[in-house]
Amino acid sequence: MQTGSINVQTENIFPIIKKFLYSDHEIFLRELVSNAVDASQKVKTLKHVGELKTDPSKLKVEVILDQDKGTLTIRDNGIGMTADEVDKYINQIAFSGAEEFVNKYKDTEAKNTIIGHFGLGFYSAFMVAEKVEIFSRSQQPNSTAVRWECDGSPNYTMEETAKKTKGTDIVLHIAEDSKEFLEEERISGILNKYCKFMPVPIVFGTKIETIDDPEGATDEEGNVKKISREVQNTVNNTEPAWTKKPVDLTDEEYQQFYQELYPMNFDDPLFNIHLNVDYPFNLTGILYFPELKQNVELQRNKIHLYSNQVFITDNVENIVPDFLTLLHGVIDSPDIPLNVSRSYLQEDANVKKISSHISKKVADKLKSMFNADREDFESKWDSLKVFVEYGMLTDEKFFERCQAFNLFKSTKDKYYTLEELKAAIGESQKDKSGKIVVLYAADKEGQHERIARAEERGYEVILLEGPLASHVVSRLEQHDNELQFKRVDADTIEKLIETDEELPSLLSKEQEENLQPIVEGVVGTENFDVSFAAMSADEQPIVITQSEFMRRMKEQQAVGGGGFTMFGQMPEKYNLVINSNHPLIESVASKGEDGKDMVKQLADLARLNSGLLKGEELTSFVKRSVELLGK
Ligand code: ADP
Repeated sequence: MQTGSINVQTENIFPIIKKFLYSDHEIFLRELVSNAVDASQKVKTLKHVGELKTDPSKLKVEVILDQDKGTLTIRDNGIGMTADEVDKYINQIAFSGAEEFVNKYKDTEAKNTIIGHFGLGFYSAFMVAEKVEIFSRSQQPNSTAVRWECDGSPNYTMEETAKKTKGTDIVLHIAEDSKEFLEEERISGILNKYCKFMPVPIVFGTKIETIDDPEGATDEEGNVKKISREVQNTVNNTEPAWTKKPVDLTDEEYQQFYQELYPMNFDDPLFNIHLNVDYPFNLTGILYFPELKQNVELQRNKIHLYSNQVFITDNVENIVPDFLTLLHGVIDSPDIPLNVSRSYLQEDANVKKISSHISKKVADKLKSMFNADREDFESKWDSLKVFVEYGMLTDEKFFERCQAFNLFKSTKDKYYTLEELKAAIGESQKDKSGKIVVLYAADKEGQHERIARAEERGYEVILLEGPLASHVVSRLEQHDNELQFKRVDADTIEKLIETDEELPSLLSKEQEENLQPIVEGVVGTENFDVSFAAMSADEQPIVITQSEFMRRMKEQQAVGGGGFTMFGQMPEKYNLVINSNHPLIESVASKGEDGKDMVKQLADLARLNSGLLKGEELTSFVKRSVELLGK
């Protein structure tokens, strides 16, 4: 028997490892199963070059839970290790890695900074085990088996042992404080999380579990009999879709893989992008576009990150551009460094390249879909829109690229690219300063009357709904200074697209001056600025508008989040514009104070039309209107 001391300076590194990795003990299993998979893959390689005769189809990794003995065994029939190799790879290399890790992090305050600690390797077993045994027999001809044992102190023993089969068993004697790893569900949960797509079959066996006989049979002394159980389940799909070539996959298989990734999800994705890059870095994966729902936040952060088919994390923040975290699917790259902290990751050149590459791929895919079948693309636009807008606002390059397929939907369900829209309205909606005014509405139903009036004039109105709209229009104006976006309620119809034309006013200055305080008395001046404008006689008697600038500032602030700004303190302010050419206004003006009731009714109608009449005021308006009809 050989005994020895593992080559480490720190007296006992394991308690330190344990402490530092406290929150993530479960990854020991990922590490050990990965090692077993690697050992199996090495057999495949050697078989391939003719150095081994082993049948690769028999390769498998078994995870065996023995509750009675309190052990968890990771067994492979892979390459195995000779005594020399155990000495070299386990006693020297593996532990020197452990020591390096501890020395590096022992003084860091927050263990939380060590998030992507992939590659901790074999010694992570000591996070959960009080004793670890290795039984290994190399694939080399005439090899003898070796048994290694270590209890977490730097001392180990190593001796020859009998082992019929080639390969390695790692036996963990689970520590008292880690008993959860003797639970069947816990282990199958971990395997399902990290090993679901590993490239060698993984079988989870609960070998012996002593339970009360479910039939309730009793022994001579009247105690319920104990029975044992043996179950075996294959954990993984060794050839997940992303490892295949796109030509070898049908649409159905892509959908099936989506279900495999998200078993609890009932919606089909809209379409997918198959990523396959080998230069300047390795990356494969499939990204799915989900049908975006009301609450997009719930659908975020569903991309799973893998490294050579080993699950790493589903927190891809900083690895893919922010707007792409709305996508679902898998990214697999051996080039993403995972044993470093997240803040380091953000600065990593490979990660940055990966991120911008994915963004480009997504734009390319959307563009090719747009070019291939525009009608189909338009039918998906409502779901894509939020995503594209989000990308436009957060990714400069994506903004440029998406101009080719970013669509504007009109109130008449016609779709335009920006270029097409400019061509369509360039002449008819140019104002006196030469700007092309793009009219838009946020709510087709709620702003119906304003939209209809713009359409009567032959204007095209596009729909820009959602919280990002005001950011998007600002960004587009900045991109193209020929353009000005105005919401249909930003001004009276005559002024939305300003011309040099001035209509004469029926009311005299004096009449206006008399009417103004009466109207102000009725609506109050806190929320309304009362003014007069000469509109056409068939325009409404009173129109409520809100300046484009003010509204956008408010909206952008609301989206940007709660900070205390000057706008946060201001009450909602509207312009109440009186049509000085409307016959009813002329008639109220002639009535003086007696016209008050009518002013009230007209003002309420204007507010109703703008969606501003609510609650008690709406109730009393309805009541008053009914009474009026009775007179
Ligand atoms: P890493 O896997 O990152 O190289 P580990 O500490 O996990 O580091 O393992 C050290 C070495 O021990 C491996 O590189 C491998 O040569 C050997 N090894 C570990 N587990 C096995 C196994 N199940 N079968 C064969 N060799 C193994």
